[in-house]
Amino acid sequence: TTRRAVAAALALATTTALAGCAGAPGETGAQLVGVAMPTTTSDRWIADGDNVSAQLEALGHSVDLEYAEDDVPTQISQIEAMISAGADVLIVAAIDGTKLTDVLAEAAAADIPVISYDRLIRDSPDVDYYATFDNARVGVQQATTLLQGLGVLDAGGAPTGAAGPFAVELFAGSPDDNNATVFYDGAMSVLQPYLDSGVLVVPSGQTDFATIATQGWSGETAATRMATLLPAYDGTGLRLAGILSPYDGISIALLEATAGIGYGTDAQPWPAVTGQDAEVGSIKSIIAGEQFATVYKDTRQLAEVTVSMVEAVLNDDEPQTNDVTSYDNGVVTVPAYLLTSQVVTKSNYQQVLVDSGYYTVEDLG
Ligand code: BGC
Repeated sequence: TTRRAVAAALALATTTALAGCAGAPGETGAQLVGVAMPTTTSDRWIADGDNVSAQLEALGHSVDLEYAEDDVPTQISQIEAMISAGADVLIVAAIDGTKLTDVLAEAAAADIPVISYDRLIRDSPDVDYYATFDNARVGVQQATTLLQGLGVLDAGGAPTGAAGPFAVELFAGSPDDNNATVFYDGAMSVLQPYLDSGVLVVPSGQTDFATIATQGWSGETAATRMATLLPAYDGTGLRLAGILSPYDGISIALLEATAGIGYGTDAQPWPAVTGQDAEVGSIKSIIAGEQFATVYKDTRQLAEVTVSMVEAVLNDDEPQTNDVTSYDNGVVTVPAYLLTSQVVTKSNYQQVLVDSGYYTVEDLG
């Protein structure tokens, strides 16, 4: 496929560029950019790495792209290696946003600017810029689609008057990822009034972030927790009508778990399940009428914003930002550029994902 060909060409270009760099140090324009990504277990981070690398290489830079498979010490040593290799800029999507303080102090000592990618790096003064999406809005979109899937809101977001009670369960992302709390807070800002009025009920009683968080964004961990929630439904006559899920990998695991206890039939329809990232598996599930919605974040745009930040810092210019107040990392408020995410359902996936060229029809076949 085209995607594979591009990936292969990219891999070759990276090798050639790095080899060229080692053989001819000081070659003009060839700056080295270290790109630290969290994991290859989710499509989105692969797309992020590919898009960032391709755009940097198109500008003549060399790229050291590394994935740490969700292992914090691995990510730290990858960043250390980038620093020793003489990286001119670092782009980091942290696994645990609180564990990079020391390694970023080393980067600062070597005068290497750091761009926090998608996830806010916390507890460090050595984070220069932050490229991300409006994460609070992602949470609002997730909660809104949950209410739409339940029929509490219509497709346009207007209340239908449905009184419920609808039984829902809530899942949040990894507690070591700053985004997870922001998504949760955004979602609860929409859901809380419905919980207060009894339109929504949470039979397990589990609603606070610490209780519903999912370490490592693991689908398996979420499915295991799902199994522990079900006894609360016994004898109540309540049907699980919806699940707030923070990420497509978790959504798919939870749909499987509910199928295992008889959901996904005419008698017991699928719960309305939300998501994030517009991963291929979830879009297929949405097309099949299983997952209800996802939140699409165009990784091409995020790469573009990040690469323009890189260009600016390399030229001693001020990168463009559009939010200089929201992202206090505990030490400094990091100037950020926030992009806008989009809701995807069965009715608009074609227009949003296929017509925009993010996926081909074959990708989703
Ligand atoms: C990202 C989400 C992603 C999640 C799990 C978050 O930091 O913002 O897009 O679903 O990590 O990978």
